Amino acid sequence: MSANAAFNPFAVAQQEFDRIADLIGLDSGARQLLRNPVREYHFQIPVRMDDGKVQVFAGYRIQHNDARGPCKGGIRFHPQETVDTVRALSMWMTWKCAVTDLPLGGGKGGVICDPHNLSPREQEAICRGWVRQVFSNVGPVSDIPAPDVMTTSQHMLWMLDEYETMRGGHHPGMITGKPVGMGGSLGRTQATGYGVVYTLREALKELELAPADTTASVQGFGNVAQYAIELYHRLGGKVTCVSCWDQAAKESFCYVRESGVDLKELQGITDHFGGIDQAKAEAAGYKVLPGDEWLAQDVDILIPAALENQITAENVMRINDRVKVIAEGANGPTSPEADPVLAERGIFVIPDFLANAGGVTCSYFEQVQSNMNYYWELGEVLSKLDVKMTSAYYDVSDLARKHKVPMRDAAYMLAIDRVAMSCRDRGWI
Ligand code: NAD
Repeated sequence: MSANAAFNPFAVAQQEFDRIADLIGLDSGARQLLRNPVREYHFQIPVRMDDGKVQVFAGYRIQHNDARGPCKGGIRFHPQETVDTVRALSMWMTWKCAVTDLPLGGGKGGVICDPHNLSPREQEAICRGWVRQVFSNVGPVSDIPAPDVMTTSQHMLWMLDEYETMRGGHHPGMITGKPVGMGGSLGRTQATGYGVVYTLREALKELELAPADTTASVQGFGNVAQYAIELYHRLGGKVTCVSCWDQAAKESFCYVRESGVDLKELQGITDHFGGIDQAKAEAAGYKVLPGDEWLAQDVDILIPAALENQITAENVMRINDRVKVIAEGANGPTSPEADPVLAERGIFVIPDFLANAGGVTCSYFEQVQSNMNYYWELGEVLSKLDVKMTSAYYDVSDLARKHKVPMRDAAYMLAIDRVAMSCRDRGWI
């Protein structure tokens, strides 16, 4: 989703696909099939608003590919949602599930709406209306939605309740991102940030760097960033800079402490949107710098964990010569133009759809637990997550070494090849 009308995420997703399809010499049948979603549902959701008038919302569910298993992907509520955003996200979900070798395909959904301006009752009506429209096309064996931007575990529960009311019986594996105790999985909150650090830990091993000898700078201080910092600290690393958006100032800032930030102290002065209280941070002795300085810090590791399109052709040369690894926690933090420059500079990039796949991996665990109606302890979830992320990391890194390509290209090659092979095995192409 972008405020910039000229930016079409689906065109970008297709360009990336075409580039890798050329690289691996993908046959024409697979290209035609995988370049576009297999199925799209576009529908209207009429809602009687609190003022008594009816408002009609546009809703979508797009299934990019389900050759490897049921589709999986979030539902986004956003006023600037477009069908091409949903298409792009559904395609990325296919690659993300395939690179981690989950038995799932890719899907994504959305409703064009702004939850800021909707009462809880109106949001519930949208959730139930969304399910009524795609009832026959989603579910534990076909397509499993999850939360995304501006949707929460409450939205997921309303959707599940509507689905179970229509279908009869209990089907908690129909949707993930449910609250713990209502079919959710322990560990989901930590999963993405921890997953980033599981892959970072392996990259450091390959680069023969001891975590305790490294420092990192992190963009963002939300869910992904905070858990990534927690685990990286436990490995012995030192984070010297974090940045976040300041809602009052309407700009972002960096908070720097050369001796290392204190995670607990910062969490104590951070709101639930991941915004740090600047005055309190200054009082605690943090140096405050402009928001884009996280990138120029004298550190070994950068962890962008905030937004897309943050490392670009314009600023990529500002990255300090000392930086050896970038672990992409956010989705799409590096622009396609910046990527070759990072490669030339010898910076090792763990690409987003590998590094941040801990979230979807834990969602998959949630679905498995829901289908069994048997829920695992936290330790079991996290150790399974570590195994999955570590093996995905080595699948990609072995391929990157074999073909002498960057990690991002190797991740795409692996994912596209796996999906194409499943389509071939099924006799589709
Ligand atoms: P979040 O809303 O919890 O936190 C976002 C953080 O980014 C906040 O600290 C915010 O202040 C900061 N931020 C916003 N604009 C900024 C700016 N201009 N400069 C610096 N900081 C800024 O979000 P999250 O769940 O941690 O997600 C972060 C990224 O990770 C997103 O790209 C998201 O799509 C991706 N991601 C998240 C998950 C997940 O499970 N949460 C999974 C996969 C990918």
